[in-house]
Amino acid sequence: MALLNCPECGKEISDQALSCPHCGYPLQQDSMVVVVKKKSPGRGFGIAGLVLGILGVVYSWVFLLSAITGNIQKEMVYFNIPPLLMIAIFGILALVFGIIARKQGHKATKSSAAITMGIITIAACLAILLIAIL
Ligand SMILES: [Zn+2]
Repeated sequence: MALLNCPECGKEISDQALSCPHCGYPLQQDSMVVVVKKKSPGRGFGIAGLVLGILGVVYSWVFLLSAITGNIQKEMVYFNIPPLLMIAIFGILALVFGIIARKQGHKATKSSAAITMGIITIAACLAILLIAIL
């Protein structure tokens, strides 16, 4: 049994209720619509994209700034290419998940944040690779 909000008065009610105990609003047909609306499609993708994006941005930019300021030797950048590739994949996944979430109608702000962080992560990884190669 799940709780949902009455479409009429907004109070929490059982999804099994035939009508709202607070205002008497008839529910049986409407409750299905409410349940479907409550489950935001693409939510999992949006959250996964956001988490991967945050991890990617933090790791890649800490690394990039260290490489730029010379806190990490160029040789160390080479050694760190395998973890960097993983972070680049995080960024790509964040981008893809964000796009899927947006297409499935998930909250635009979260989807856009995942997409943006994915791009920032990929850009940072490319910049680090350039530093390693040059
Ligand atoms: Zn009600």
